[in-house]
Amino acid sequence: MTDELLARTLHANGTLSREQIQGAIKGRVQGERLGQAIVRQGMLSIADLQRVELGSNGNGHNGNGHTQAPASTPTQAVVEAPEEVEDVSALTLYIVDHDDSADPAQAPVVRYANELLKYAITLGASDVHFEPQPGGLLPRYRVDGALQSGQLLPIELSAPILSRFKVLANVDITEQRMPQDGRFRVKIGSKTIDFRVSSLPSIHGEKIVLRLLNHSSLETDLTKLGFARRDKAIFERMLQRSHGMILVTGPTGSGKTTTLYAALNSARDATKNVMTIEDPVEYELEGITQTSTQTDIGLNFARVLRAALRQDPDVILVGEIRDDISVRAALTGHLLLSTIHTNSAVATISRLRDMGVPSYLLSSSIAGIVAQRLARLTCKSCRGPVAPDDPRRAEWAHFFHMDENAPFQEGKGCAKCKGRGTKGRVAILEIMEVDAEMRRAISADKDAESLRQAARSNGFISMIDDAREKINFGFLSPQEAMNVLMGHEE
Ligand SMILES: [Zn+2]
Repeated sequence: MTDELLARTLHANGTLSREQIQGAIKGRVQGERLGQAIVRQGMLSIADLQRVELGSNGNGHNGNGHTQAPASTPTQAVVEAPEEVEDVSALTLYIVDHDDSADPAQAPVVRYANELLKYAITLGASDVHFEPQPGGLLPRYRVDGALQSGQLLPIELSAPILSRFKVLANVDITEQRMPQDGRFRVKIGSKTIDFRVSSLPSIHGEKIVLRLLNHSSLETDLTKLGFARRDKAIFERMLQRSHGMILVTGPTGSGKTTTLYAALNSARDATKNVMTIEDPVEYELEGITQTSTQTDIGLNFARVLRAALRQDPDVILVGEIRDDISVRAALTGHLLLSTIHTNSAVATISRLRDMGVPSYLLSSSIAGIVAQRLARLTCKSCRGPVAPDDPRRAEWAHFFHMDENAPFQEGKGCAKCKGRGTKGRVAILEIMEVDAEMRRAISADKDAESLRQAARSNGFISMIDDAREKINFGFLSPQEAMNVLMGHEE
């Protein structure tokens, strides 16, 4: 937000008087932003300033509103809204390492396929599904986790469009009964985007799904991913350790991979050898050695891991913990990052014990655990208060241990969010750092409840607590947060 816009906003919503704003402007030191001057001069707290900048209606700073953040939450959530997705519809799209000049008859199909790709990029889609239907081919685009339908492609175009994507992916276009996969890369404007292509036979014909891997949009800023300041500090402290294991847990689609890439980015420096073993490599990161398993030639996980450990790693990322091989690897003088499928940070300990990892080994290898879910951010442009008599309030209040009359907010739907009331996504997180006390509790074989208590006495903030804070700030609607956390054992 520019200084001028901030001044206007502060005045318009009555947060500060004209005299106060002018005072802050006069009192600025050289190079200081207006917001910094206002905070420095004690007119507003950083949190209140952020609320204004994020466009909330200022609950809590007018002195008579409810302040719902419980006193036990010593953290400030600072969620930055996602970048606006760039409209690329007017730009030229190039397919890397592919020449179409040999077959001019294909030009209309090529152009049309390119338009579909550009539309997907402009929408900010993560995947595009091409579903064969009796009347034609239906494109569906996944945006912020939910599918939305495009326009049905006429039947005459169905086969040529599907063939086009298979040609680009370098797979056999005559094969329609067996699943296939491949990939291609496009450049458009300043972006480079990889498309992973997979085909699967269905009863109405072949279905193709394109997954977009946008190199320029991989978000590695922990704050933007949803880490509150306190969580970010804990996570970065864990990443500075020279050995041990850091696990990121959550169901499929909870953003674990993005968090791990952000962690790698944070751990990477010129003095360290950072390596990954992935299946497959999704994003290429500079300054990191990335390897993928290739089971078809016998290069399985265990084999790649053994080889990688002989390459003198400081930090090593492995896709998923499935057995105790990786856990033992964490004991040999480097930091190991990985994911695991569990419900919560505490449940991860029990899960690893179930895998046969003994408690003494766990207590000496685990540095910390991050559990997370992805929730849709409330659209800033149409965010507004929920009616005082809304019947959903009681359930929300119960679920999040909040006051039923809390100033809940949600998106109402507008042009910017295409009527959905949400735009972009953010993680709901909990971080358990394994300190001396936790280590003792783990090695003493304590049950989940005792572990949870030990973590709590250590300042552990659960996903429910984190969600409550994001609700208080208006980033998340209580309904969305509840849907996402439902079934999560606290
Ligand atoms: Zn909106």
